[in-house]
Amino acid sequence: MNRAVQGIGMTSMRTRGRMIERLREQGIRDEQVLAAIANVPRHVFVEEALASRAYEDTALPLGFSQTISQPYVVARMIELLREGRGKLGKTLEIGAGCGYQAAVLAQLTDDVYSVERIEPLLVRAKQNMRKIQQFKVRLKYADGQLGLPEAAPYDTIIVAAAASTVPVALLRQLSVDGRMLLPLGTGEQHLLMIERRSDGYVETRLDSVRFVPLLSGVE
Ligand code: SAH
Repeated sequence: MNRAVQGIGMTSMRTRGRMIERLREQGIRDEQVLAAIANVPRHVFVEEALASRAYEDTALPLGFSQTISQPYVVARMIELLREGRGKLGKTLEIGAGCGYQAAVLAQLTDDVYSVERIEPLLVRAKQNMRKIQQFKVRLKYADGQLGLPEAAPYDTIIVAAAASTVPVALLRQLSVDGRMLLPLGTGEQHLLMIERRSDGYVETRLDSVRFVPLLSGVE
């Protein structure tokens, strides 16, 4: 980690600690998820002008009408995906944005792929990974509605933008016993957990959420 990053990192350690305490109070119980979040310097992923707000539990603007996800939502989604099986295995994230959630996922599993449809954001995500010396995440410029066939199937698929219907390509690229968690809906949105069994898919409707929309194509 370079010196500048470490410098801000040191001063942010206390605020990051407070963020973890808040996540605990909000009901996050998975200690490994909390540790993963504690390990990722969120201020590196937000724009400089907003760095002082990096450890508030809010979504923050990334430019291109996109936002960096709220820490609580990142924690909650990963906790749900790990619940009762403890590991994520090969993981695909749709919607890398600036790469924050992908960096958190990389603390918990060695095999992380993340796709983003806005090229400048993908470039920024790559720069951010370099800044924190995280080289495990494979970042790809692609329309995530089509998944990422080259490395399929995935044990875990996590979608960071709200779909109006479940993308069929993602269902196909989920391994048997794999889990996918996605925000679903236009207006009202909720999280939908989809588990693939040998004889089909099981869906469970979960929390109400608010995400930016999952869009088609790349730009
Ligand atoms: N994971 C990010 C969240 C970024 S917001 C974080 O950790 O903060 C959601 C992102 O999904 C946006 O960057 C948006 O451009 C992207 N997105 C929307 N539709 C997409 C698609 N079809 N394929 C890939 N990325 C998509």
